[in-house]
Amino acid sequence: MTLIDTDKICELAPSPAYVVDLDRLRHNLFILDHVQQKSGAKILMAMKAFSMWSVFPLIRQYLKGVCASSPWEARLGREEFGGEVHSFAAAYRESDVTELLAISDHLVFNSFNQLELFRPQWEKSGVSIGLRVNPEHSEGHTPIYDPCAPMSRLGIPRAEFEGRSLAGVDGLHFHTLCEQLFDPLARTARVFEEKFGQFLPGMKWLNLGGGHHITREGYDIDGLVDLVKHFRGKYGLEVYLEPGEAVAINTGVLVSQVLDVVHNRMDIAILDVSATCHMPDVLEMPYRPTITGGGDPGTLPHTYRLAGPSCLAGDVIGDWSFDRKLSPGDRLVFEDMSHYTMVKTTFFNGIQHPAICTWESGSEELKVIRKFGYGDFKSRLS
Ligand SMILES: *Cc1c(COP(=O)(O)O)cnc(C)c1O
Repeated sequence: MTLIDTDKICELAPSPAYVVDLDRLRHNLFILDHVQQKSGAKILMAMKAFSMWSVFPLIRQYLKGVCASSPWEARLGREEFGGEVHSFAAAYRESDVTELLAISDHLVFNSFNQLELFRPQWEKSGVSIGLRVNPEHSEGHTPIYDPCAPMSRLGIPRAEFEGRSLAGVDGLHFHTLCEQLFDPLARTARVFEEKFGQFLPGMKWLNLGGGHHITREGYDIDGLVDLVKHFRGKYGLEVYLEPGEAVAINTGVLVSQVLDVVHNRMDIAILDVSATCHMPDVLEMPYRPTITGGGDPGTLPHTYRLAGPSCLAGDVIGDWSFDRKLSPGDRLVFEDMSHYTMVKTTFFNGIQHPAICTWESGSEELKVIRKFGYGDFKSRLS
């Protein structure tokens, strides 16, 4: 596995900046394509996780299309990715359905109410229609990322299928995992088949959603291939996977620099990147990112709290130690920052927004794709 050359990137990138390593992206795409070839599954990219459309021409060489969560995502997928566009949202407005039917290949409903409400529109559209089901089998440990948590609005529970017509429905969709290896999928698929298998004969497709960490070290690719083949073989279905993270995991970094070091019971380095603005999952999920050259507090000689420049007291990324003292101008690199970052950032506090860059390691070319300025901030606010 080629590692990202953070030294070189630090030297060449502006700060702050998201830098996506194209070789690392290719590495993930090779693995996903291998799954497609071996299993016959079609893999879509979940735009929710990663929508840096300047690299869509690379991704579409391998993946079959995108899955979108809204008309805007679907439109971006249609315009910049090509291939298949599959759309799902927890609920649609009538205008959403009109827009989505015009640009989607698959449209997935989250309730029988909406399936029937919009039947007159979709029946004449030619778009393949599916239902998202809720297998009510939790594998997640974080309730906000567990669509099978009690009282979840995501997916139709089995009991709701009683007495309902599936006329015109081509496929079923479940999405219940988050950052998981194969075993949770295998267990979920078993429960799904027990509860919903009776509806599969006569359908055209099955969508296994996202949350599969297929490109992570240790993923049981053979297990996944067999599972896809099982559903394709037994029911004659087209099988879709729609990972987001697995496309972009370990492909990019967030370059930052130290602006100041202050002291209040401990040394606190204030950076030009913010947890709340630029890596909100650090607070929301929450999780602790990896920093190149950084260790747990106390494991290296100099420990700092790293915090953002915003006015939010809780804009704290966490505590790390380093083998050197930090001073203004020093660069720090947060690893694995491609997915669920650029798609989630805000301009809160009017803080300088990280540039978006690509890194081609073979030619050592750092390209600045997009810089943000005052106009981008202003244009969102009136
Ligand atoms: C979030 C989501 C995905 C992608 O999930 P990852 O965890 O990024 O792989 C796929 N499908 C649906 C319906 C989603 O909500």
